[in-house]
This record gives sequence, structure tokens and C-alpha cells, in this order.
Amino acid sequence: MRAFLRSILVSMACLAPVAVALAQAPPAGAGAAPAQVIVIRAARLIDGRGGAPLSPAMVRIDGDRIVAVGSSLPVPAGARQIDLGGATLLPGFIDLHTHLTTREDVHWEDGLLKTTPADDALWGAHNALVTLMAGFTTVRDMGCDWPYTDVALRNAIDAGAVPGPRMLVAGAYVSSTGGAGDALQFSPYVQVPLVHNLADGPEEVTKAVRTNFKNGADFIKILATGAVLSKGIPPGAQQYSDEEIRAAVVEATRWGRDVAAHAHGTEGIKAAIRAGVHTIDHGSGLDDEAVAMLKARPNTYYVPTLALLSINLDDKRANAFPPAEMERMRQIRAMAEAAFRRALAAGLPIGWATDAPVVPHGLNAREFRTRVGLGEQPMAALVSATRVNSQIIHWQDRVGTVEAGKFADLVAVPGNPLDDITVTERVGFVMKGGVVYRSELATGH
Ligand SMILES: [Zn+2]
Repeated sequence: MRAFLRSILVSMACLAPVAVALAQAPPAGAGAAPAQVIVIRAARLIDGRGGAPLSPAMVRIDGDRIVAVGSSLPVPAGARQIDLGGATLLPGFIDLHTHLTTREDVHWEDGLLKTTPADDALWGAHNALVTLMAGFTTVRDMGCDWPYTDVALRNAIDAGAVPGPRMLVAGAYVSSTGGAGDALQFSPYVQVPLVHNLADGPEEVTKAVRTNFKNGADFIKILATGAVLSKGIPPGAQQYSDEEIRAAVVEATRWGRDVAAHAHGTEGIKAAIRAGVHTIDHGSGLDDEAVAMLKARPNTYYVPTLALLSINLDDKRANAFPPAEMERMRQIRAMAEAAFRRALAAGLPIGWATDAPVVPHGLNAREFRTRVGLGEQPMAALVSATRVNSQIIHWQDRVGTVEAGKFADLVAVPGNPLDDITVTERVGFVMKGGVVYRSELATGH
């Protein structure tokens, strides 16, 4: 982490375009983007729609939007030109499961006892920058230790106060008492009175949903089953009743918003699908019947998180997880990887996510390598992290593909990711909303 951070800071200090871009970042709100025409050239474009790459590729940007895409575009007088040489241009990546306000090196129980919400907000700003620099221009953030620090981070990014991905946030995730998300797994004599995320019974769940939306959440995260990084109810066990999950969906639907269900165990997955949640996150115990249920409900998506298994179990990276939680991860691995292969074989649309910082912030792209290693075609993995994810968050009108009218959220990788998917881990150009944040791959200019 430290070495990675240092390399980012060094690249920010050394690369004038990055420093200039950050200095010129729009001060506030949409519409404040620089009214500048930019023309980008690259060896090829993978536009997120799944067709053959366009080669060579040109993209014209006006202000914060893409206005033209082609192999040979006229260059308006005065346009800034960026030549990415042999690189591949792609839509900015989207991660559907992050925790930007959580540090990878602090266990959440320690965080609640020894830190303040201000720590999480400041580290959240740092993690948002690290994530943006890795090519992730949009994230769905799945909850924080100190409730609503994610709302503050999203608002600061949207206002242009700090650089980071576009964010959708969960606010205070909703858990049952003693369940995976019970943030008070201490002695009963220890209280953390600022954390209110427990709801038992349909009425309390309804109240929790309303409270979240009142306080700025974009969607609801509910813990349908136990979790790996918890000592609450085991990951395979259903922790919310069908009625409780249904209450969350009914109330969120009244607000026109979605419910994302954290779910590992098979019965909890099926209960969440029956209740009509929008995403099944992790989905480790997805069996054939659950796959068939998802096929019959095109508005519910499976969103696996797989790289965290190899990063934490194989790489022997230092992490903040105690042995009991590492053991839960070991136990769930074979099931989670089989679930992914089952979904692939069935042709299910699959969302793309990491659970960062369980995958360290900035290493999100490792998920590509993991999924291709489990049998997914590189193009399918790229489309999942771009167009499919944009559809899951209902933002297909603004992000997820490189097409005229969309936000100019673009990344570039060296070489061709269809030949070597690991180049996604070496993003060398990042633009969000027409602002360049990183441009090592640019030749000249
Ligand atoms: Zn998570």
C-alpha cells in the first residue's frame, strides 16, 4: 500500500498534465466542466458494447461530454490533442461494490473503537483518488463503518472539492441484531451510540430504509445472510426473514430506488431474489435453482466479488483480518468460484465488483484477471465492468460506453486487453467528465 501510494504521489508530482488537471478540476457542480474541445487518438477503442474494437480510434470531447467517435474525425482549430499511441481506449471502469471510507489496514471493530468519522472521511478522500487513478470513474459504495461518511464523500466529489469517482452510496447498511452487519459485536457493556444500523422485523426495516433516504443514501444495502469478515451469524445462514427483506424492497420501491443484498448462503440468496432485490452481492452459494430464478427475473443481478479470495488467500498480503475471518474466507472459496462458473455457463448477465478494500483500494482491476482465469472471455469481463454495470445502476444514459452524448469518462491501458487482460492493472490514462487526471500514456503534447 505505502509503495503504491508513493508511486501515485510521485507520478502526480512528476507529470505536469496530472497536476494541471487536478489544479483545473471544476470547482463546483455539473456544468462547471472546462468548455474545451479535446481530441484523443489511440491504436484501438473497446467501447463497452461488446463489438469488435475500432482501430485506429479517435474520440472528440466537448466540455464534459463525448461528442464524436470514429476512425478519422476532423480536428477543430484550437482543439487540444492527446495521442495515446499503441494504447487501448476504454470506458471508465465501474466497480459495484466498494467501501471507499474503509481503510484496508484497520479492522472495522478497531475503527469504531479508536477512530472518528473524520478519519474515515479523510481516508475516504484519499481512497477515492487512488481508485480514480486506477481507472474507476464510477463506484457503487456499499457502506461505511461510520454511517453517512459515504454521503459526505459523494457530495464533496460531486461539488469538485476532492477528486474521485462518481459515487452511489448506501449510507448506513441495514442489518439484524447479531447479524453480519451488527456493528456492535463488542461486550454488551460497550456501546457505540452513533452507529444505528440495526433493524429487526419489517417495521424497523421500513424505518431504516426511510432514515437512509432522508440522510442522503442513493440505495439500500441489506445483509440477507452472514458475512465472511464478521463474527456474527455464519456466512451461509440466512439472517433476515423473507418478510424483512420484502419490507426493504417495498419501501425502497416507493422511493424509486434499489435494494442491494449482501448474500452468501443459498437460502438467503433465494429469499433475496424472491423478495425482489436488485442485486445479489457476493452470491457465493448460487446454485442451479438460484440461476434459474435469476433468469426469470431480469431485474435482479448477480454481482460476484472473486479477486479478494486469491489476493487474501494466495498472495499472502498483509491484511487486517483475524484468523477466524480468514478461515471463513477459505471455507467459502470453492463455493464462490463454482457459483461464478455456473452463472457463466448459464449465460447470466453478471455485474462486476471487488469489495475493496478487501481487494486493496487501487488494485480493483485484479478482478478482471481473476474472472478471466475462471473462464470468462476478456471482452465479456470488460463489458461487465462498463456497460452491464452502467445498466445495473440505471446510468446507461451517461456512463458505461464510449458513445456521443455520454460523459467523457475514459481510460487507456498499454497494449491490447483482449490479448492480455492484466494490462487493465496498468491504467495510464484517466479522464472523468472531460478532465484528465492521469496521462502517462500520452506521447508528445
Ligand atoms: Zn462489502
